[in-house]
This record gives sequence, C-alpha cells and structure tokens, in this order.
Amino acid sequence: MSDAFPAAAKTALADSQLRRNLRTATHTIRDKRAAAVGAKHDWEELREAGRALKERVLLQLDQYLLQLEASVERAGGHVHWARDAGEANQIVGDLIASHGADEVIKSKSLTTEECELNEALAARGIRAWETDLAQLIVQLGHDKPSHILVPAIHRNRAEIRELFLRTLDGVDPNLSDEPRALAEAARLHLRRKFLEAKVGVSGANFAVADTGSVAVVESEGNGRMVTTLPEVLITVMGIEKLIPSWQDFEVFLQLLPRSSTAELMNPYTSIWTGVAERDGPREFHLVLLDNGRTNVLADEVGRQTLNCIRCSACLNVCPVYERTGGHAYGSVYPGPIGAILAPQLANLEGSRSLPYASSLCGACYEVCPVKINIPEVLLHLRARIVEQDRQAGLRRRLDPVGIGLQAAASAFASRRRYEAAQKLARAGQRPLAREGVIRRLPGPLAGWTAARDLPAVPKQSFRDWWRSRERL
Ligand code: SF4
Repeated sequence: MSDAFPAAAKTALADSQLRRNLRTATHTIRDKRAAAVGAKHDWEELREAGRALKERVLLQLDQYLLQLEASVERAGGHVHWARDAGEANQIVGDLIASHGADEVIKSKSLTTEECELNEALAARGIRAWETDLAQLIVQLGHDKPSHILVPAIHRNRAEIRELFLRTLDGVDPNLSDEPRALAEAARLHLRRKFLEAKVGVSGANFAVADTGSVAVVESEGNGRMVTTLPEVLITVMGIEKLIPSWQDFEVFLQLLPRSSTAELMNPYTSIWTGVAERDGPREFHLVLLDNGRTNVLADEVGRQTLNCIRCSACLNVCPVYERTGGHAYGSVYPGPIGAILAPQLANLEGSRSLPYASSLCGACYEVCPVKINIPEVLLHLRARIVEQDRQAGLRRRLDPVGIGLQAAASAFASRRRYEAAQKLARAGQRPLAREGVIRRLPGPLAGWTAARDLPAVPKQSFRDWWRSRERL
C-alpha cells in the first residue's frame, strides 16, 4: 500500500466530473439514510446495543473464535486460519484447484479485495468473476473500488453503458443508459456464469459463534446465487465479523440496512449453517483472516475500529471523501473508516498520511451505527505517528508544525495572549483579505489555501462587540 493520498487527492480535486458524480451519489444516499434513521424511535438504543455487543466480542475474541470453529465443524463445514493475505490466497487457491476448477464466481467481498485474491488466483490460472453489479463494472474496467457499498460510485451511467458495449459479449448495440437496461445486460452475462460455476467465493457480514451460521446481506440476489448454486462454497471473513449469538442478529439486521442503503431490511439476507442434505453447496469452507487485525485489537483506543460493520454511512457524510473519492485513499477501505483502518492494518506503514485526511468535523462519528469514535482514533493515530518519528529521530522537537501548534496552545491558554494574537492577525491579514475571505496565504502557509478559502479574522471580536454593547 503506497502513501499516495496527498498527490492522489490533488489529482482527484482537479476532476470536476468525478466530484459531480460523488456529490450527487453521496448526498442522495445520506439524505435517504437520515430519513430512515429518523423514523426509528429507538435508534440511539440500537446503536448502543451494537457497540456493546461488538465490544464484548472483541474483549473475548479468542474464545468466540474457537467457539465459532467448533460450531462450523459440528455443522459439517471446515475452518481454515490465515495469518495474512498470502496465506488466505494460498488456502483459497488450493481449495479451488483441488476441485479441478479454473473459474469461480464471487459475491462482493471487501476482505478478498484486501487480500488481492483475484490477482493471486489469476496467477494460478483461475478466473474469478465478480457478480455484484458495481463490482463487475469495476472488474470490467480494470478499475479499483472507490466506495465500500457502491464500488463504482465514480462512474456515471453513460460511462457504464460504454464499458458494457466494449467488454461484454452479445450486448445489444442499441443498449440505453437506463439503469434497468444496464442491469439486464449484466444479468444476462452473469446468469451463464452462475449456472456453470462449480466453486463460489463469498465474503461475510456476520458469523454467529454459538451456531456457526454465516450471513451475507445484499440487494441484488447475486450473493444468494453464489452461496447456494455451486457445489463448493468458500467464505473469506475477517476475524472481527463475529457476533455472539443468533439473537444478536436482531440488533445488526436493523442497524446495517438503515445505515447503508436506507432500507428497513435488506432485500436478500442469506444465512447458512455448515452443509445440509440436498440443499445448497456440498462443501463449505470458512477462511478466518487476521492480516493485521490482532495488532488493531492490541491497541486500546484503536480497537473500536474493529466494530465496523462496513455500512459506509461515514463515507457519505465525509467532506474529504466527497471531494477526493475513494481511489485517493490507496486502500480498499476509503473514507473515514479507511483513514483509521488501513494504517492500523498495515501497522502505520505506507499509509501514514491517512489519519491527517480529515477535518475532524465529527460527522462520521454521529452517523456510525456502532458508535466508532473515528475522530478520537484519528487523533490517537496522529499522536502515534509523531511519537514514532520522534523515536526514529525523524522529527525535531520543534519542527515548523510543532512551533505553530505550541504558539497556538500558548495563545489559547491565556485570554490576554488570545486577544493580542487576534489583533496581530487582523493587522497582518490586511493585504490578503478580500470581502471576509483570504484566498491565498503566502510562503509555507500556501498549502492551507491551495484547495480552500480561509475566513478572515472579523473586524470586531465577540468580546469587543459585547464590551461596546455594555458601553451603550
Ligand atoms: S465506521 Fe461506522 S459508519 Fe463507517 S463503515 Fe464502519 S460501521 Fe459504517
């Protein structure tokens, strides 16, 4: 994973079509979500229940995982443990090869994206077909997902029509860019794949420790096909996706659809428990992936990141995501959750700019259905990065940022100093401020105004106004 966010964000900011696509899509989803959540009178209680359940799982994760393994095997499934992406890819590739298959169908799985499973399978001569419509669009365009829930959010309908005409066999040359027509073209292509495939690979939204049941929730029905039609089903799941008991679905199946697609329930909720006679796949394998998650678990503040149920609500309200899109993050996990998850999974290697990709406005925390305090984790990670640099001798005690922050801390600590700083700023901004806004700061401060305006210090502070009012 490269630490390319600053440069990639700059490129994305210059792409006005991308910003239009993102703005339209995120605002539509966020408004619908707000309405769905607003109509639920016990939403805050549900959020608290979701947070508490996830916390319980994380505090006893070792025990719950062993319980899950025993439950899955009791139901006729097989459990595999993968320390990292390489091990997971090896396990999945070996299982597919042992059944003599050279094609598999997949339903959307961020975890396999994280492992770059498709690329690893291709290197072994196995072709993986994505079956989620948006994921298929990404795959056909040799693209990368840019949103957790809507991986092709950066594409508009005209672009998708052109892509289908170019890449899918047998598409009507008069294909329109109506959503229904585009979906039908994809459906015809996928139907053949569903019927031919011997092996299916899926992700998982939840796994139940006490029953060994695994659940996938989705909107298109492709997940249902992938988890029921093939003879062999392989599910790759991060170790944090556990819930303690069947009853806990009650909480998460209310939180997730409202937060992700603003629906009261997901159109398709597929839950399976091991294998059953004459019903679904003959063989079921569950691959449990660590890939840095135990490092996250070991950090008391960062641990809450593992509560995430990948609803994507935080992306849709984030002012940074809305302007840069998901590709700039250089990770399969974009937006606010990506800014805290990606650096932690990589042990702060290669993605150190991400915790700074936030205005700390707190909108992500407000919408998170499992109450992950993303701003708190962002600040914690920034502190870890600063400390790491200091220890490595990469950061002087008083670098320019440090000097600036110390000066700000000193000004904010005393009313006299704060008022003096205001006066100084008012005088200093005279050549720069126009109509209450500073559009360009000089020298090393220019970066601040490169992509945003800075409000000028007002002519009169609140205290001055109050004093003048008292004098009347
Ligand atoms: S951090 Fe919260 S809001 Fe963001 S994707 Fe995860 S669960 Fe959803």
